[in-house]
Amino acid sequence: MSTSLLYHGFGIRGYRYVKTEYENGTVAFTVRQETDDLRCPACGSRRVIRRGVRQRRFRCLPIGSRPVQIVLDVPRVGCLDCGELRQVVLGFAAPRRSYTRAFERYVIELSKHMTIRDVAGHLHVGWDVVKDIQKRSLSRRFSHIRLKHLRRIAIDEISIGRGHRYLTVVLDLASGAVVFVGEGKGARALDPFWKRLGHARAAIEAVAIDMSRAYICAVETNLPKAVLVFDHFHIVKLFNEKLSDLRRDLHREATEKLHKDVLKGTRWLLLKNPENLDAKHQESRRLHEALTLNQPLATAYYLKDDLRRVWEQPDKPAAQRVLEDWIRRAESSGITMLIKFARTLAIHRFGILNYYDYPISTGPLEGTNTKIRVLQRQAYGFRDAEFFKLKIYALHETRYELVG
Ligand SMILES: [Zn+2]
Repeated sequence: MSTSLLYHGFGIRGYRYVKTEYENGTVAFTVRQETDDLRCPACGSRRVIRRGVRQRRFRCLPIGSRPVQIVLDVPRVGCLDCGELRQVVLGFAAPRRSYTRAFERYVIELSKHMTIRDVAGHLHVGWDVVKDIQKRSLSRRFSHIRLKHLRRIAIDEISIGRGHRYLTVVLDLASGAVVFVGEGKGARALDPFWKRLGHARAAIEAVAIDMSRAYICAVETNLPKAVLVFDHFHIVKLFNEKLSDLRRDLHREATEKLHKDVLKGTRWLLLKNPENLDAKHQESRRLHEALTLNQPLATAYYLKDDLRRVWEQPDKPAAQRVLEDWIRRAESSGITMLIKFARTLAIHRFGILNYYDYPISTGPLEGTNTKIRVLQRQAYGFRDAEFFKLKIYALHETRYELVG
């Protein structure tokens, strides 16, 4: 081992190699400071007096899977100018850290490919050591996210955990990166984002959101020039929810008000030739009842299939025709749920059709939300909210499976 290898291999510069020891599988290099050029760490003065040493051990780059330690007697100096008594500043390690800067860089590098647990296991250090190193690095990179380049974004909220905790997430649709995480949901959660966006003077062209009143108001107020695009997944999902409600209502109606056997055996009755319907068992009346009961549901199912076609047209005029036709059919169905839904679509038709100018959606956020939930299940989501947020900002560059 040489002083030069100490520098090139382990990033320890300005220290002389003294000896190597092997202790319980760990390699320990003892080094000593090369010069007596000591300064006061508080004021920088050279007018200092040595006040003894304190032996410290620093984790540094491993040799293979074998941990390596640097052992150094760190001088303490008393300053004649400012009166402080402190340990001198070390070139190879940040103040108060028990590992070298090279070790930190290595942890960051491994963290691009491995989970915290894997890195900790490989380097024989605690989970918290890796986490702290990651957190400082993430915080350097993501505490001031650049927003100036943003053009197309998606906004959505995500519920995490069981305690009705919500996060509002803004995604850059060009890079797939999360650019903002707000606490809670609704317009308030976005306030800090608008502020930062204003400072950055970003020229946002289009925003994908669901049809919620809060988001529409927030975007119209803060980005009056941006084009609103209502996410089609949310619209289809909303319709499916209404359809389930309708199905449940009709089922209750059928079981409460009418005989339970109205729906039972309907298929058999439908398959029967009408002339062969048995008058004695009132099959004709039962068939009529069943068809009447099922009619709203059948209409709703047809409209469900047709709704998707709004986003499958070759151009905007064609889509507009399909949408207007859908609204007209739903309005004239006589079914309250469909009439209400038609009105909702009519009010939001511009944002729906804007899809043909900006074919964006909150779809890419779905994948991000799945990853956020996995992160959250890794427990540190709640223990350290700040770290959790930083990890969300780094999600798009995560290359390993999010487990552990
Ligand atoms: Zn001083």
